[in-house]
Amino acid sequence: MKVYLNGKFVDRSKAVVSVFDHGLLYGDGVFEGIRSYDGLIFKLKEHIDRLFESAHTIMLKIPMSKAALIDVVKQSLRVNRLHDAYIRLVVTRGEGDLGLDPRKCADPTVFAIADRIELYPKRLYEQGLELITVATQRNVPEALNPQIKSLNYLNNILAKIEAINAGFEEAIMLSHSGYVTECTGENIFLISSAAGKGKRLVTPPTYIGVLRGITRQTVMALGRRTRLDVREDLLTRHDLFNADEVFLTGTAAEIVPVVKIDGRMIGSGKPGAVTKKLQQAFRQLTKTDGIKY
Ligand code: PMP
Repeated sequence: MKVYLNGKFVDRSKAVVSVFDHGLLYGDGVFEGIRSYDGLIFKLKEHIDRLFESAHTIMLKIPMSKAALIDVVKQSLRVNRLHDAYIRLVVTRGEGDLGLDPRKCADPTVFAIADRIELYPKRLYEQGLELITVATQRNVPEALNPQIKSLNYLNNILAKIEAINAGFEEAIMLSHSGYVTECTGENIFLISSAAGKGKRLVTPPTYIGVLRGITRQTVMALGRRTRLDVREDLLTRHDLFNADEVFLTGTAAEIVPVVKIDGRMIGSGKPGAVTKKLQQAFRQLTKTDGIKY
C-alpha cells in the first residue's frame, strides 16, 4: 500500500509522522472519510469543501489548493489500484513543541490513506441494528462545534465505549438538554406517518450539535425527491421509540436500519419499507453521481 504524505507517495511502513505533531499531541487537525464506488468518488467536492471549512474554523491553513487535494485523492486510488475504497484525508497542525501554541507549528502535515472498504456485516443491513442511549452527552456546539471534523474524537469514543460495555455496537448521544443528536459516527433519521398526511423524514437540526453529514444531506435530498415530508426537528427518545422506522447514515455505513432502541422495538422490528427504498435510491446514486479517477 502506498500512502500520500506531504507531497509524496511512500510505502505504508514509511508513512510515519513526528511524535511532536500536534495532530498526535493534541488532536489538533482535521479529517475527512471519503468513499469510492466502482471507480467513482462519491461527493468528493463536498468532502473537500467540508475539510477546508473545518480547517478555516481552527485557523489551519491547508498548504494546498482544493484542486491539488482532489488530485491527491484520485492519485491515492490509482496508485493503489482501488475501485471500491475508503479514503482518509488528514491535515494536522504539524510538528511543534510540547506547548499548545499553534504558531510554533510551521508546516501542516497532509496525508491520505486509501484502503479497501471494510464493509459492515451484511446481517446488520438485513436484520437492523440495536442501539442504546448513553450517558455521555454530545459536545455542546458552543464549546466544540461538531461541524469541525477534528482529530479529537474522544467525545464519540467515550460514547462508543459505553455502548460496547453494554453489549451494543452503536450509541445514541443526547444533547445537553436531552434531545437526540446523533450516533458516534453516523447521523440519525426517523420516519413517521402523520394522520391523513404522507410520511415524514425527520433528523435533528445541526444547531443541537450534530455533524452536517454528507450522507445526511444526500438522504434528505433523496427523501424530497421521493415526496417525503423532509424536516429538521428536535427529537426526543420518545419520538424515536414511536417512529415507524429509524436509520443511521454515514459515508462508511451508508444507510443502516435500526430495529430496537433502549429495549423498545421500532415499528415492526424489521428494516422498514421506506428505509429500503432510500437504500436503493442511494445505491443507484453512487453508480452515477461521482468523479472518475
Ligand atoms: N456524525 C459523525 C460524528 C461523524 O463522524 C460522521 C462521519 N463518520 C457522520 C455523522 C456522518 O457524516 P458523513 O455522512 O459525512 O460521513
